[in-house]
Amino acid sequence: MKISQLNEPWNDSALVVTVGNNSVNPVRIMLDCGANGLHRDVLKSIDGVLITHAHVDHFASVDSWVRARSRTDLESFVVGPPGITERFAHKLAAYEWDPEDRFSSSFVVWETGGTQIRATRFSRRTNFEAEPVGAREHGGYLMLPCDVKLRFAPVRHRETPCNAYALEHLGQRVAYVTDTLYCDETLRSLKDGLGTGFDELWCEACFFDEEERASERCHFTVFQTARLAKELKANKLYLVHLSYRYGDELYLQRHLSAARTIFPMTMDPVYFSAGGDKNVIPA
Ligand SMILES: [Zn+2]
Ligand SMILES: [Zn+2]
Repeated sequence: MKISQLNEPWNDSALVVTVGNNSVNPVRIMLDCGANGLHRDVLKSIDGVLITHAHVDHFASVDSWVRARSRTDLESFVVGPPGITERFAHKLAAYEWDPEDRFSSSFVVWETGGTQIRATRFSRRTNFEAEPVGAREHGGYLMLPCDVKLRFAPVRHRETPCNAYALEHLGQRVAYVTDTLYCDETLRSLKDGLGTGFDELWCEACFFDEEERASERCHFTVFQTARLAKELKANKLYLVHLSYRYGDELYLQRHLSAARTIFPMTMDPVYFSAGGDKNVIPA
């Protein structure tokens, strides 16, 4: 598994996990879908999206992804917290679909909640009407295509249902945590749901040291992010979702230095911000 960051760390999230060989039919999974301006060919190559929560900066570009994938004969998947099925259905219902096009695309939405996971299929052939597939006990994980084991944990983001995720494949483990409050409840939920011991943790660091503001907004300071990397026994930490107000290289360097005082293995991000770079997912 390789995670590519297609946007600046202070911009709306655009993380893509490539599973398998980049040039031979890899499975591609997007972690949240908030970033505008991704190229249609990139979006078309994304097999599924993991949505942490339905705030607009994490969910807005699902429309563009649906547009790209609807013009294929492929089945795509969406995983999200309670309420995601209805929200996804609303996106599909917002558009007129050309009765003349003959694609047979479909989307299966997996909605987590309590001890159960519920699946609903939306098929192009039936004009994306919701077809319940069923619900079952999840046992803490869901198997995704390409033998990826997905673990999820509910985390507190004010009143908004929000999930954190961990992906496991061939012994490699990566976790993605964003938009939550740094508190005992979050730590417990993450450890119980995702486990510990990650090769990579990709985690928000919305604020610098404004702890009060961070807890009001249910976000982390960069120092809390670094502490979490220790708590979760991560090998490497990547910072994402910095506040827009820290939107330049100088602030990014300040964030990185601060994180390294607590967690030295905070990595320099490699991101692809120039328009042209968004046309391809780096190998
Ligand atoms: Zn949010
Ligand atoms: Zn956010």
